[in-house]
Amino acid sequence: MEGAADFLRQSMSYANIIINLKTRQLDKLFTYAIPPQFRGNISSGHRVVVPFGRGGYVDGVVWSTTEQSPDFKVRPIAQILPDRYALSQSQRIIMQLLRKYYMATYQEAYLAVLPSVQKLDKIVVYNVIRAFDDYSAGQVLSAEQLANFSARQLAEKVNCGELEKHLTFDFKHHKKTVEWVIKQYDDLPSALQKVAKRAVKKQRILKHMAYIDALPLSDLCKATRATRRDLVALVEAGFFKLEKRDWQYQAASWQPSKQSVAAPPLSAEQARVVRDYLAQSEPRAALLNGVTGSGKTRVYIELAKRAIQSGKQVLMLVPEISLTPQLVARFSSQLTSDIGVIHTYIRPTDKIAVYQRIKSGDIKIVIGARSAIFAPFDNLGLIVIDEEHEYSYKSETIPRYHTVELALALAKKMNIDILLGSATPAIKTHHLVDIGALKALYLKRSFSGSELSDIQIVDMTALPSGTTISGPLYDAIKGCFAKSEQVILFHNRKGFARMRQCHGCGYVHMCRNCAVPMTVYDNGRQFACHYCGYREPEIAECPICGEQMADIGIGIEQIEAELQRCFADRKFAVVDADTTRNQVRYRELLRDFESGKIDGLIGTQVLAKGLDFANVTLVGVLLADQLIHMPDYNSTERAYQLLTQVAGRAGRSALRGRALIQTYQPEHPLFDYVINRDFSGFIKEEKRLRDLVGYPPYVTLFTIKVQSEHKLKAFEQGQRIYEFYDKNFIKNQIDAKVYPPLEPYYGKIRQQYRLQIVFKVAKRCRAAVLKTLYYGIVKNKYNLIDPSCWVDVDFDG
Ligand code: ADP
Ligand code: ZN
Repeated sequence: MEGAADFLRQSMSYANIIINLKTRQLDKLFTYAIPPQFRGNISSGHRVVVPFGRGGYVDGVVWSTTEQSPDFKVRPIAQILPDRYALSQSQRIIMQLLRKYYMATYQEAYLAVLPSVQKLDKIVVYNVIRAFDDYSAGQVLSAEQLANFSARQLAEKVNCGELEKHLTFDFKHHKKTVEWVIKQYDDLPSALQKVAKRAVKKQRILKHMAYIDALPLSDLCKATRATRRDLVALVEAGFFKLEKRDWQYQAASWQPSKQSVAAPPLSAEQARVVRDYLAQSEPRAALLNGVTGSGKTRVYIELAKRAIQSGKQVLMLVPEISLTPQLVARFSSQLTSDIGVIHTYIRPTDKIAVYQRIKSGDIKIVIGARSAIFAPFDNLGLIVIDEEHEYSYKSETIPRYHTVELALALAKKMNIDILLGSATPAIKTHHLVDIGALKALYLKRSFSGSELSDIQIVDMTALPSGTTISGPLYDAIKGCFAKSEQVILFHNRKGFARMRQCHGCGYVHMCRNCAVPMTVYDNGRQFACHYCGYREPEIAECPICGEQMADIGIGIEQIEAELQRCFADRKFAVVDADTTRNQVRYRELLRDFESGKIDGLIGTQVLAKGLDFANVTLVGVLLADQLIHMPDYNSTERAYQLLTQVAGRAGRSALRGRALIQTYQPEHPLFDYVINRDFSGFIKEEKRLRDLVGYPPYVTLFTIKVQSEHKLKAFEQGQRIYEFYDKNFIKNQIDAKVYPPLEPYYGKIRQQYRLQIVFKVAKRCRAAVLKTLYYGIVKNKYNLIDPSCWVDVDFDG
């Protein structure tokens, strides 16, 4: 064995490997030898299986290779996965960026870019120790390769030392073919007429396929709760065809109809924007600031088309794919290339297939929410980020990256063009324009030439308390319905009421797992916690003093009930995060609204994004105060953006729109900016404030989050971190302010007590602070971290 090891050392290269190991303290690369049969075929990005510890194997990825032999004994790589599973160049660079800017460990970065199903299954392999038959020592054989030996013969070979049995890894077995349903009809109404009204499931199938060309049979049955029998009947009636396809084709399952439509010619303004964008030196980077309906999407399509023509791939990021079905449909009809859609609801096997088609270059355009940036691009030429100001671009789990920052860094590093678009760009993004990192482009008028909606503030202070719909709003809704137009109302509170409180003693009914009041649902009949999902039947009397309880903080369900009372002959529907989670129902609901079956939508802010309905002429915001009073330095920015976006929902066609905003603080300075659409005035004022007080983009905020089952432990942990870094920054002359530990707004979630420590750090010291936090919090080099606590760091600016 000694001789074999020498041979390895002399003639082999070595690989530094990221190992899929959770332990944060072990965050480093591990060196392995590359066995002769793999040499020349292995490079950074290849996924491998390596021996680790005593007798075990783990999967990993090659980070770098070297000829230099390390001065310690290394073991050989056991297995290399086929090229198609290797990480792409963009993925490797993203892993570097996640480490550099967001303190991700190697493993966290590795898992981030891997679709969750590309995890490996354990399987048995055999190492040849002593040569026998045609096999030579050092080879690794699968059970299949040894299939002509019986189990007993194999056991003997292990016993006599010819073979060594090991566990290793492979992907879960995938079904090879899948049955697909292919649509054969074009016109939904006439198709529906040919099916009996009583055949509810068949009707549902036909409706479900209205915007889709093809779907796997099992998906369709699941989505419509129909059986194979229903479908076969529809196939016999000629509505569908069944076809067996390779499982890889499932990638297309969310593909909207491919009715291609030529993109309309660019307007003069759009042409100017495209020209100015392309005139930049490479890599191009710009912010397209264009009011809602100004034709930004048409500009994205034009740039995408050009990138594809020059042989490149395009990544189109949207805040949440399920909320932007119209945008996806436009891309797919106006661009002839295959589109890969990556969304939250994508099935794991589909995601693998999409990933492989992106890697092979087969898919040219990828549309997706923030995690689509992790897709395996080897030839990316353009990144577009729509609604770049949206909060959903920030990851709230580890790694806690911000998609816009990450995309900008990736683009710079890989020479990729990038375009950010928004009607209300983030203040951080304006700052990037200020410092010359982005070029500013504008589309100032709405494309249809329709005038911007007229925004009015309604003073609620003079009205009787408990009023939800003021006189002016009521009149406006009535007027709207009289002209057969539609309304959208916004109210940012899910459920029936925020909480239930006792009249007598003030007791508030709280969640048993969280320090959070239970939300009242279902007309007051149910309690639920937004944070942990815990549910309970209602209680009407106070468990402490027996008095009656009352609901506080009106939720969206009550608004709907009230509207239904006022306008009994009209139909309303509620849209909140729960509604949008059920994709099939949500798309059906939007279709019903579009076709006029529903007269009014009442939604939380999920409704504010990307919807485009020609017949909506009135938008109401029921309680703007909710938006302004969030305990966060950027709540005014977000309130401004939301109110402006919401107002943009009305009057998108030739019909002039109106927006009414109800508030108890009509004199709040924010409203002047909103009414006058004085974006630059608002930004200027807000930037001045942040610069003065010290908030992003002028400083970086680090928030150290501590969690523990024990309240005291959490406080001790917080105090220790606070004291350590307070001294550390003074000693090392780092320009950073450390604030003592504080409980966040909700101090306990899911039985975990929470505490946070905030650092305000001068921009030039960001890297230094990151480094010391990495050693202190991730590697625990200074012994700061108590094993009973979970500590992680969030980044802002
Ligand atoms: P935004 O993305 O800025 O909200 P859109 O791209 O959705 O704006 O454009 C608003 C409307 O104008 C859409 O209905 C779109 O089809 C239409 N539109 C935009 N550009 C053109 C064009 N060049 N020719 C014809 N219609 C256009
Ligand atoms: Zn809870």
